[in-house]
Amino acid sequence: MKIGVLCLQGAVSEHGEALASCGADVEYVKRIEQLDHVDGLIIPGGESTTIGKLIERFGLAGPIKELASSGRPVYGTCAGLILLSRNVPGHSELLLQMMDTTVSRNAYGRQRESFEADLDIPVLGSAPYKAIFIRAPQIIAHGPDVEVLATYDGHAVAARQGNILVTSFHPELTDDNRMHCYFMEMAQEKK
Ligand code: GLN
Repeated sequence: MKIGVLCLQGAVSEHGEALASCGADVEYVKRIEQLDHVDGLIIPGGESTTIGKLIERFGLAGPIKELASSGRPVYGTCAGLILLSRNVPGHSELLLQMMDTTVSRNAYGRQRESFEADLDIPVLGSAPYKAIFIRAPQIIAHGPDVEVLATYDGHAVAARQGNILVTSFHPELTDDNRMHCYFMEMAQEKK
């Protein structure tokens, strides 16, 4: 099972390590051709405006959508969630719009730019999941096809719509690899 990590900007190597610990082969994706032979793709956190511009510059938006249309899963974390969302008030680089979510960027405010929270994520089992949020986006609305996997402060912070998975937090920054293994299972289901 080969999982790609979009490697344009932001936290990439930690995603690779977490995927490898779940038994995945990892491909750091920069070019369109690489998308042909991955079984799933992670769009990592970072700065969504920058990543969006690079996606546009390298012509990756269409190929990423095609990858998802073929049934292979895509997982957007933090800035990746912003890039996948259908609606982001005030954000001009909406290229992908693959997830029926509305998100507010940097929504947790200055005091809480970075924080940790123990979440209940039933699809990962009963043990609490320590989630790390960094200038995180908040999912302020979502459509009926979006399955909420976890909430914090009354808002969805992990969600799935078919083969698209998103989290407001950074799963690659903890030792807990359950989110990455869950994504691997989504790729296995497709295969
Ligand atoms: N605040 C960033 C943005 O708006 C996202 C932060 C992150 O990915 N950790 O793009």
